[in-house]
Amino acid sequence: MNITWFEDLDKDDVAIAGGKGANLGELVRAGLPVPPGFVVTAQAYAKFMEESGLAKRISAVLSATDVDNNDELTEASREIREMIISTPVPETLAKEILESYRELSRRAGKDEEFVAVRSSATAEDLPGASFAGQQETFLNVKGEEVVDYVRRCWSSLFTPRAIFYREKKGFAHERVAIAVVVQKMVNADKAGVMFSVHPATGERDKIVIEAAFGLGEGVVSGAVTPDHYVIDKASNRLLHKEVAVKEIMFTKDEKTGRTIKVKLPPERAGEQVLNEQELAELAELGKKVEEHFGTPQDIEWAYEAGKLYLLQSRPITVLYEKEDREEESAGEAREVLVKGLAASPGMGSGRVKVIFSVKELDKIKEGDVLVTTMTNPDMVPAMKRASAIVTDEGGMTCHAAIVSRELGIPCVVGTGNATEVLSDGMEVTVDGTRGVVYRGISRMKEERRQEVTAAAAPKIVTATEIKVNISIPEVAPRVAPIADGVGLLRVEHLILGIGKHPMKFIREGKEEELVEKIAEGVRKVTQPFFPKPVWYRTLDAPTDEFRGLEGGEDEPVEHNPMLGWRGVRRALDQPELLRVEFRAIKKLVDEGYTNIGVMIPLVQHPEELRRAKEIAREVGIEPHRDVKFGIMVEIPAAALIIEEFLHEGVDFISFGTNDLTQYTLAVDRNNERVAKLYTEKHPAVMKLIEMVIKECRRHGVETSICGQAGSDPEVASRLVEFGISSISANPDAVQSIREMVARTEMRLLLDRARQDAP
Ligand code: PEP
Ligand code: MG
Repeated sequence: MNITWFEDLDKDDVAIAGGKGANLGELVRAGLPVPPGFVVTAQAYAKFMEESGLAKRISAVLSATDVDNNDELTEASREIREMIISTPVPETLAKEILESYRELSRRAGKDEEFVAVRSSATAEDLPGASFAGQQETFLNVKGEEVVDYVRRCWSSLFTPRAIFYREKKGFAHERVAIAVVVQKMVNADKAGVMFSVHPATGERDKIVIEAAFGLGEGVVSGAVTPDHYVIDKASNRLLHKEVAVKEIMFTKDEKTGRTIKVKLPPERAGEQVLNEQELAELAELGKKVEEHFGTPQDIEWAYEAGKLYLLQSRPITVLYEKEDREEESAGEAREVLVKGLAASPGMGSGRVKVIFSVKELDKIKEGDVLVTTMTNPDMVPAMKRASAIVTDEGGMTCHAAIVSRELGIPCVVGTGNATEVLSDGMEVTVDGTRGVVYRGISRMKEERRQEVTAAAAPKIVTATEIKVNISIPEVAPRVAPIADGVGLLRVEHLILGIGKHPMKFIREGKEEELVEKIAEGVRKVTQPFFPKPVWYRTLDAPTDEFRGLEGGEDEPVEHNPMLGWRGVRRALDQPELLRVEFRAIKKLVDEGYTNIGVMIPLVQHPEELRRAKEIAREVGIEPHRDVKFGIMVEIPAAALIIEEFLHEGVDFISFGTNDLTQYTLAVDRNNERVAKLYTEKHPAVMKLIEMVIKECRRHGVETSICGQAGSDPEVASRLVEFGISSISANPDAVQSIREMVARTEMRLLLDRARQDAP
């Protein structure tokens, strides 16, 4: 059987429909209203391989490939995927797929319905083999191209990683198969989320629903403030509602299938999204899904033309709720151990290490609480490792206080008796904002940090946000209080600092270690800035800079590395590395860092953005929901077709003027001979910037700058006039840029007031 409809599948059909297909079948059978669709079975794939003679040709390529040689492996993967994509699908099979697609469209009352085409791996149950089918997903596919995308999904069985894995595990390539799910896309007129228990209070007898007009993206991404309803689970009665003003809605452009944002007229914006009947229907669905999975669920739903669909469901982690409760009660019974002066704000928890001389510094491990009589300059390396510092002596300007403030480490000084009361190994929490040390480890560390940053916020308030560029994560705590976020977190230094080429980690099978190292570095920034945004830029590794690393000998020698293999173009050629970066980000997202944005460097075509998002999804990050997703505008091509990027979907853009200038003016930024021609203030560069800002403003998309030009007050002032949303400057320039921006904003207001005056 080449095609099977969802309703004919269940969870035992993994061999036919792959994991995803079988799961969808199971949900349909449970009576849950998932959008309809069918599966192009694993057997159809096998037939295609056999009938087209591809199986043999693929074997031939693979037997001539040394999978331990990365270049050969990449080349073999490219060649095979190309072969698959360009081989015609057997006529009868293509006809069957198209007929099923037409049937699906007919059922939806359309000639040609938009569908999602997704690979569905049959080997998902093999431990560690979940990538065997690289989880390709193509959205908004329509008409005859469905066949084409099915073939693309098939080709995902031959990514370099999948080939490598099968070789190493001794799985025969010709024995694996992949299914493809073809599912109707829902063009919602109302959508949102539902929690089958109250997510904030944990009450199991309540259901919470959030709803907005249009597609669910608005609610999920937080771009729209949704209506909020609380329902009594037993009676479906509406207990409480807050109807929000929903200024915009996300909707699908019927021609292109792309998501666009539209403004709602005031009378519509304030309308209640769901009526009582719909709320009751949703509540019923919530109960059914919870019952089916046996745990409270976080559900994405949509109404299209009066019909309710279940788009996604995940278990709610009740853990948080429990921890919060414990924390609250712990808060009531906290035991104060010592008190002193609040020398450096913030909360730090860890094990106490008491030291009396420099000779004992080695005792201090990462995260310990350093307790001593008084610190001195020799102690700085150990202070950097500490999560908090407590001293017996000293006032607000003593060494410990000054250094702790600079390093951003919570510190309590002048306690008088800390070295007596506290002893090695005790678990304590240091509250540097209040000058108190408690017994026990606090879990509210991050929340407290928010208070601290708010308290230490700069005096000058600007409407334009002033952010900071960070390359050395250790600097973050120091600048967090004075900046409104990180507009560029460069990962290159972090990786160069590791000393070993990232691809070498991957070749040696040490991906985990690399994920850990990146996560650790990035956490050093997301933590002190939380909840202010931190935009992580994916690796932009020019070949010449990375050749010096251990394992960097394989870097190709390029005539012009600046125009060569770097940024997203390289990342898409080496997706295994991009995947490692995204896994590190996913780790932090899972730890609750909701303040991360991902920024893709050196994009020149929306296709690159689309593919980067796919790779993010492969590791479980949903762009725009789990992280903000944006691009750097640093190639004139991207600036000139910015609208197409906006249609592809970005939460923000940031100007990389260092590159934008060199590519606009044809001036190598690293070549001192032409340095006199290099200026960001060239009218052509400024014109591109102005154009992009205006276009983004029309679409309500955030704009920023993270190139060096953002640290130039004169440029900053122009950017404010253009209407930029934020400016990211170097740490030392943050204050002066903030002043200049404030001045410019006031001048603009004053000009306007004078104009309006009679
Ligand atoms: C830029 O190009 O302006 C930028 C910020 O990126 P980088 O300097 O790292 O190339
Ligand atoms: Mg750049």
